[in-house]
Amino acid sequence: MKKIILILLLILLVTPVHAKKFKVKNCDSSSMADINWAVDFIDNNIDEMLAEATFIPGKYKDKIKKKWPSTTLKCSKKKKCSGDTMGYHKKGSGNKFNLCWDQIRDFNQTRCELVGILMHEKAHAANVPIEKKHNDMNAYSYVSNVDLVYRFDDVVENVCTRKSDPNYVPTGATKTGGDIVESGRAGKLALDQLCSEHTQCASSKCGKGRCVCDDNNDCGSKSRCIKKIGKNYCVPTGGIIGDFCKKNSDCGIGKCEKKSCVCKKDTDCRTSFGSTNFRCAKPGLGFGKNFCQPTSVSNGGACAKNSDCNSGKCKKKKCVSK
Ligand SMILES: [Zn+2]
Repeated sequence: MKKIILILLLILLVTPVHAKKFKVKNCDSSSMADINWAVDFIDNNIDEMLAEATFIPGKYKDKIKKKWPSTTLKCSKKKKCSGDTMGYHKKGSGNKFNLCWDQIRDFNQTRCELVGILMHEKAHAANVPIEKKHNDMNAYSYVSNVDLVYRFDDVVENVCTRKSDPNYVPTGATKTGGDIVESGRAGKLALDQLCSEHTQCASSKCGKGRCVCDDNNDCGSKSRCIKKIGKNYCVPTGGIIGDFCKKNSDCGIGKCEKKSCVCKKDTDCRTSFGSTNFRCAKPGLGFGKNFCQPTSVSNGGACAKNSDCNSGKCKKKKCVSK
């Protein structure tokens, strides 16, 4: 019996593991040049994009990076691709996501915007916490400024625009006579930078290939270090609406619900967005996170109850005349 187990074990060990590959499905040939460009750009710059997204905890960044090479990307014409929806990721669909190519083309998205869309959907696949009104951004415009996935999308697009600029010179490099010469990196590596040994990191801790925090001091004055086996990460303290949190005291404004700082009272929204026309809406247990509901909404705008509308009437979540 032992022999059989040993043989089985040997077979398992010598069987080559086929790494899952990046797949593109159902996209017509006219879109492939743009898609290939965007995928290549991400392959080459993913570390820089993730390092610049300081508001996303390392554990999600690791997932994004790990899951990227085995993505299945599908071009879709389904109902979900309507209005200005450029892509979607179905809950529980893991590493598959959909691009709405007709929308991407009709809205004249640039290649860097496409890079943003790809990373946006990838962030969903990695379960980065989102705002309650993530999918209703046109009615809730503040969401684009606070939601972690939209903020990531912006960072990614900026990195792309910057690096596609022919005059771009990377930080830490000096341009001499047309050649880019890396200048010697003085000191130690900052958090999130790639490492192979503890001694390379300013924090003296290299976890799974990246410099991670070792104690609260490594995270700066507005973050704390959460210790997790193999991979510590910084969580902001004094977080504002939309920021990642683990517990209520991580939020400087409001409270922590499902890993996001959300409003607790009306003034949380009002001070956050500099307008008195907000209240804190509380969908209640099982109905998702609290969110900031605009008030004094004109007809056609989004509402949750009658008093949100100028007209005094909210019907099917839209303000209508009385
Ligand atoms: Zn999204």
